[in-house]
Amino acid sequence: MEIECMCLECGISLYLQTSSLVLGSFIEGDKRLVDNTFCSQCGGPLLAVGKAGEQRNYIVSSDHLTGLNSS
Ligand SMILES: [Zn+2]
Repeated sequence: MEIECMCLECGISLYLQTSSLVLGSFIEGDKRLVDNTFCSQCGGPLLAVGKAGEQRNYIVSSDHLTGLNSS
C-alpha cells in the first residue's frame, strides 16, 4: 500500500510505500509526520496526508483564490 505524503517546505506530494515509512508525531489532528523519510526535492519534513489516490484538496491554487475575492 502507498500513502501520499506532502512536503511541509515546498508542498509537493510524494507517494511512498507504507512498509518503508516510520510515522512520528501527530499534527493537524489525524495527520502524522514521517520520521525516516524526507522530501526528495528540498529535504524538508514530510506529512502523511492519506492513502494514495484519495483526492484531498489541501493544495489551494492562488489563481482560484484571486477569482473568489473579486466581489
Ligand atoms: Zn520539499
